[in-house]
Amino acid sequence: MPAPDLETIVSLAKRRGFVFPSAEIYGGFANAYDYGPLGVELKRNIREAWWRSMVQERDDVVGLDAALITNPLVWVGSGHVANFTDPLVDCKRCQRRFRADHLEEGAYGEVPRDSNGNPLCPYDGGELTEPRQFNMMFRTQVGPVADEANMAYLPPETAQGIFVNFVNVQQAMRRKLPFGIAQTRVSFRNEITPGRFIFRTLEFEQMEMEYFCMPPRDRDNPTEYLALHRQWVEERLRWYIEVIGIAPERLRLRDHDRDELSHYSAATTDIEYLFPWGWGELEGIAARTDFDLSSHAKLSGQPLTYFDEETGQHVVPWVIEPAAGLTRTLAVVLLDAYSEEPDEKGEKRVVLKFKPRLAPIKVAVLPLSKNDALRPTARRVYDMLRPLWMTQYDETQSIGRRYRRQDEIGTPCCVTIDFQTVGEDGQPGDDCVTIRDRDTQEQVRVPISGLVAALEERVPRC
Ligand code: ATP
Repeated sequence: MPAPDLETIVSLAKRRGFVFPSAEIYGGFANAYDYGPLGVELKRNIREAWWRSMVQERDDVVGLDAALITNPLVWVGSGHVANFTDPLVDCKRCQRRFRADHLEEGAYGEVPRDSNGNPLCPYDGGELTEPRQFNMMFRTQVGPVADEANMAYLPPETAQGIFVNFVNVQQAMRRKLPFGIAQTRVSFRNEITPGRFIFRTLEFEQMEMEYFCMPPRDRDNPTEYLALHRQWVEERLRWYIEVIGIAPERLRLRDHDRDELSHYSAATTDIEYLFPWGWGELEGIAARTDFDLSSHAKLSGQPLTYFDEETGQHVVPWVIEPAAGLTRTLAVVLLDAYSEEPDEKGEKRVVLKFKPRLAPIKVAVLPLSKNDALRPTARRVYDMLRPLWMTQYDETQSIGRRYRRQDEIGTPCCVTIDFQTVGEDGQPGDDCVTIRDRDTQEQVRVPISGLVAALEERVPRC
């Protein structure tokens, strides 16, 4: 099935409590969104899937949670104060502002051009000013006095907290190279281009890992280092396909050209997804050499090195950085899971075919009707399951409509309690319930005593 259009997903996300436009009662706020009850669960599940693959199931990666607001010199040392800039142009007629690179990259569709091919304002065709550099970091102040001495930045990425803690982590955990440090948290960028839903927002969550390895023998020909970069590219692509369940045909790798690479980078590869408007970045895997550790060591005067026992020398490790967007992945998971198909009556049913691990609600407990005779058993089943899985209890409306509702939020299993379960007309019940599968719509009857085991075969306990 082709990817749905963005409007379909934006509307479902709002209607069913995944993502709301922020501060809607005040007219909203550009590039800001709120995550609703199902959105937080989905976000948590993606984050946990990343953490499990990157930290829990590996011997060579540990976690970190560094302060968001910290010494502003961190952002001087990292080069962000000087270089985290983008070219900004203004329309001379309507005074609207644009990022020159986004005008060229199609963020505004086809833009009008003058006779020399230069872009004009996408709104009114007005002439644009010459580009000037604009720093994308948000500034704030610490303490009551708003002067330069009290100025701090909101982090535009998570990586720098990892670099400045390299020695702390290496020594505290007695790590030998190669090893990685992983971190997931919010980042902030002063984005002025109108975002496409949560693809580009002012604040967003990232999942980043810095993998430190021995420096290459030959700086100009770092064959093993580039092979390690490739391994991480393959591993991250595998994660999106096998763990997150994204259709492989909607994913591709794009190597950065020489002129696109930052001066310190030996190679960068993006994992891109085929969004409704075209290919867009989901994750960048950068071979950042020893740039960050060396820059911070130079500015701080503190050596950020590793003692190599074999050679008896202090070396500056080189780094591979897989940097993923959590909230951007959430958009991709919603887009990719969306499916429309006929139900048993031939009517349209909308299903979010999440991998069971990602589904916000894992099991729905549904008494056949609102009948008092069914409720005690249904509540007993609900109480049994909720410590094990995110479980929802619903007894309103017809059972068919409740199945549709659970399909639309991607719940893998519905458990139905009926009169056969509890008994009727003086006859004893069989104490069995029905499990209905989201994707096949097949129903099987299992005894309540075997329900947990039967569900465990279908949904991981998380
Ligand atoms: P883009 O070119 O789309 O602005 P980038 O190359 O600047 O992205 P990185 O600095 O490599 O992005 O950040 C790593 C990941 O963080 C991106 O691949 C993306 O998933 C996510 N990301 C970056 N900026 C944003 C944003 N403003 N909103 C949501 N996610 C973002």
